[in-house]
Amino acid sequence: MNYQNRSFERLTDVSEILDRLNDRQREAVVAEPGPLLVTAGAGSGKTSVLVRRIAWLIKAFGVSKHQIMAVTFTNKAAREMKSRVEDLLGMNEAPYRIGTFHGLSNSFLRIYHEAAGLESDFTILDSGDQKSLISRLNRDLRISVGEFKPQQFQNFINRSKSNELRATALSPRNYREQIFVRVYEAYENYCEANSLVDFEELLLRTVELLKRNQLVREELQDRYQHVLVDEFQDTNSMQLEWLKLFCGKRNQITAVGDEDQSIYGWRGALAENMIQFEAIFPGTRIVRLEQNYRSTQTILNAANAVIQHNDQRYSKELWTERKKGASVKLFNAYDSGQEAKFVAEVILSGVSRSIPYSNFAVLYRTNAQSREFEEVFGYQQIPFRIYGGLRFYQRKEIKDILAYLRLLVEPNNNEAFSRVVNFPRRGIGSVAQERIAQYASSRNLSYWQASSEIVKDYSVQVHFRAALTNFLELINRIREEGEHESFGDVIASTISISGVKQFYKSRKLESDITRIENLDELENAAVNFIRRSNCKDSIESIRPFLDTVALDSDDKHDENTLNAVQVMTLHLAKGLEFPVVFLVGVDENLLPHVLSLKSDQNGRRGADKDSLAEERRLFYVGMTRAEQQLFLTRSGIRMVRGRMSVFRPSRFLKEIPRQFLDTVPFNQKIDSDFTKKINPDDLLGSTIDHRVFGRGCVTGLRHEGKFPVLTIDFDEHGTKQVLWEMNNFKVRR
Ligand code: ATP
Ligand code: MG
Repeated sequence: MNYQNRSFERLTDVSEILDRLNDRQREAVVAEPGPLLVTAGAGSGKTSVLVRRIAWLIKAFGVSKHQIMAVTFTNKAAREMKSRVEDLLGMNEAPYRIGTFHGLSNSFLRIYHEAAGLESDFTILDSGDQKSLISRLNRDLRISVGEFKPQQFQNFINRSKSNELRATALSPRNYREQIFVRVYEAYENYCEANSLVDFEELLLRTVELLKRNQLVREELQDRYQHVLVDEFQDTNSMQLEWLKLFCGKRNQITAVGDEDQSIYGWRGALAENMIQFEAIFPGTRIVRLEQNYRSTQTILNAANAVIQHNDQRYSKELWTERKKGASVKLFNAYDSGQEAKFVAEVILSGVSRSIPYSNFAVLYRTNAQSREFEEVFGYQQIPFRIYGGLRFYQRKEIKDILAYLRLLVEPNNNEAFSRVVNFPRRGIGSVAQERIAQYASSRNLSYWQASSEIVKDYSVQVHFRAALTNFLELINRIREEGEHESFGDVIASTISISGVKQFYKSRKLESDITRIENLDELENAAVNFIRRSNCKDSIESIRPFLDTVALDSDDKHDENTLNAVQVMTLHLAKGLEFPVVFLVGVDENLLPHVLSLKSDQNGRRGADKDSLAEERRLFYVGMTRAEQQLFLTRSGIRMVRGRMSVFRPSRFLKEIPRQFLDTVPFNQKIDSDFTKKINPDDLLGSTIDHRVFGRGCVTGLRHEGKFPVLTIDFDEHGTKQVLWEMNNFKVRR
């Protein structure tokens, strides 16, 4: 995030790695290889320490970049970490294995697929695919939808897997459990037979592989002699196992984390892993950091006061040398529409003072809250980017095209086949599809193989055969044409030849305009993918592209960092920072979330202190994302399932001492002593004043190594390529 400093970091000397670090940070960076735990509060430089330790291991201890592996949780955080390491070391010297638990597991399983008992071309199932597969299996097993929802089975399967429990290891104690285990078993068999791997499976397979196969284990332990992990507080027991297996006896692990930011308890994460670290990795050195470099003192004081209401924590008090800063602002909206308008108005007041849109973030507890903001931002023409939520790659039209692509490379993939065989409609309805399925299962064929036989079977009705022949030929045609095309063109022809684009064009619905835009965007994504990966610009890149899409689905929008307001859930905001944060929906039942207050039907997690404490940590994570200004907003009335409902202020608001919190009116403006943070990406499309060349418009941006280079059309000097130097520019808007 901190571009200004980043662009100027040049490493000429080993000691520069330690520049600007405080003593404790330095102690952590230079510690002898061995188990090291850095526990510290938000914004105290944990990720910075991790990044610098990687550089230090390489430059000072002479460790090869190939011997280092660094792990974190979201793709966004992994990319951020990688680029920070590259800034320090240069592109070519940064370790290659910096990724998420899932991404790294996928890479290893592709390499050791045989030992792991997988086909080399296994397919990753994302959460939506997993759910629809489970629904389909339930239908086959005749499980009544009224009684059980696919979601329940999905949770059960994922929970079992994250506890390293296969279906065969479970012994059901009653009828209900029998059903769950039966579905789990059917699911496992199906995945096994069709080479499907879900997210949880990526981790479990890797753990099993390392546990069972001594050769592979020793090979990997030898290769990755140094393991580093960020956000350690959110590891669950399987992820800890994963780390332990990679570390082996060498025990050269660096973990950084903050138990106050543990927000994945519901997924089985154990902040206890932090407490047990010493016992698990003997000889652990612990370093605590307490100086915060991110937020103003006021924001920190407010956040500290809130988190103190949780017991069971190491007490630590964050402090900063930064200025006191403005008070935290609270806006009480009449309804959720006004809440969104308030946020938009404050942003506009900042933009009119040349603060870039990207300095603002809107964070919320639940995805659904984004809609109101999307609407108002759209109306006010405020550019914004939503992370997560209705993700680009989860949208129907995109998934359709991805299924076509899948079928091109894996004709025997039944999921993909079923998804597109009759979309757009081509006379192969559900009865016909049922026949294909029966034919296939009775002869142990895939749907594709079955169809190829059916079309030659003269006992089958002519129109059915004709329709099916058309479909098979269509897929073959896309593939044949694709042989000679660039990857972007392969996507474009798939979109047009399949008839998907025509389908949406002909319907003329309002929403179809967006769908067509999304399809066009997919083509852009493909072109970008080739540009950024080492993959060939041809049809051969379908598979790596599909892999990336499946793994990346949590935060895809991040592609081209344009100047836009950042909108996301609190969970996705972990580890990030923004000059101005709007933490919205600070209402009882939203934050804390209603599920943490009521016990759910299964009685799994009641209105217990644990889940309330987790909600508080989430609130704390949100507050500590803010560097200069924090706005909290809430609303007295919200729509809940089509009905107006009254909402009361969150109990967490009362936990912020009065002197740090001001209630503000609707026409609140951004504070006057706000210092904006400009990064070169924000400048695309802006008019600037250059110290030497005068006025111009920024039309392009590329990175030369770590230095951003702007293309600028100057009024008086023509088009020039100029190195981005903060001091040489003034932005006009
Ligand atoms: P979180 O708990 O949110 O993950 P963190 O502990 O990982 O936070 P970082 O993101 O590493 O914290 O650092 C927060 C900010 O402080 C960054 O902008 C970073 O550049 C800056 N920072 C870290 N250490 C220093 C330092 N010694 N001097 C100046 N700035 C620093
Ligand atoms: Mg961090």
